[in-house]
Amino acid sequence: MTARVTVVGSVNADTSLRLAALPRPGETVLAQEASASLGGKGANQAVAAARAGARVRMVGAVGRDDGEPLAQALAAEGIDTGLLTRSERASGRALVLLDDDGENSIIVVPGANAALDDDAVRQACADLSPGDVLVLQHEIPAATSRLAAATASAAGATVIWNAAPAPVRSADLVEHVDLLVVNEHELDAVARLVDLRPAGPEADVAAVAARLGTDVVCTLGAAGALVHRDGALARVPAPAVTVVDTTAAGDTFVGYLAASWHLPVADAVRRAALAGALAVTRQGAATSIPTRAEVERELAAHTDSNTTDSIPTGRNHP
Ligand code: ADP
Repeated sequence: MTARVTVVGSVNADTSLRLAALPRPGETVLAQEASASLGGKGANQAVAAARAGARVRMVGAVGRDDGEPLAQALAAEGIDTGLLTRSERASGRALVLLDDDGENSIIVVPGANAALDDDAVRQACADLSPGDVLVLQHEIPAATSRLAAATASAAGATVIWNAAPAPVRSADLVEHVDLLVVNEHELDAVARLVDLRPAGPEADVAAVAARLGTDVVCTLGAAGALVHRDGALARVPAPAVTVVDTTAAGDTFVGYLAASWHLPVADAVRRAALAGALAVTRQGAATSIPTRAEVERELAAHTDSNTTDSIPTGRNHP
């Protein structure tokens, strides 16, 4: 079965700078290297889902004057860009600073991402059917994500919300979500917004799942991911790898998870964790996202060591 994934989210032009160490306030440092590429959490997750083998549609906005290369880069991945609208605003941009330890700091200028076309969002999401997956992040206005989630949910699609960057106000929260995906920092932020006192990832995943009435996956970097589904909590490990650049690990995870959501949940999360681990072994955002063939190869190699504790089984879409 080929999964159908619609991403409503951000598309950015990324500039990445490699530095010995991230600059402190007031400091001027020299970069060793600069590179430009497609980025934005929405676009990265769309690319990850496409490389995972899904049929992917990207709904977003880029600049009328500077957006063409971004649209072409998405189309080159086989992604449908028919609902990527053109804005009078310049395309979103991100400046990614990356140090020799693989740590990064990122500055984002939203640009056209702040002006998504509601009609395009409505059209894309009303079109969905049960079995389709909608993927949202938090790099476009929350009101747009809420419109997308409500419309897709009414159409019977599965709604995945990657609450990244971390929401800061309760008005940032999205309803009609089936699966919330967060890292530890974002989990902490969501827990606070729903009036829970953070008590560590395992307790927080369960508490947030109960409070929001959603399944929750929390990524834990090198430690893999926690999955809370249908009331049961489990941990899925990630393989040990040598870290080169952690950019887009989370986006790779989410894109692979969305593309694999029709599989038993343990398999879907294991694929996502492995894809995320492969992404950190390479430099760049979209450039670091592995192909399905690479993930399949690694899955075969890790079959023995990749045990999953008490993961609920069963298919997500009967
Ligand atoms: P984010 O980039 O959103 O903070 P994480 O750092 O939790 O997300 O990474 C997402 C996924 O990528 C993890 O669940 C894991 O599967 C993989 N991953 C990230 N860092 C590592 C690492 N150092 N070693 C192995 N896998 C990693």
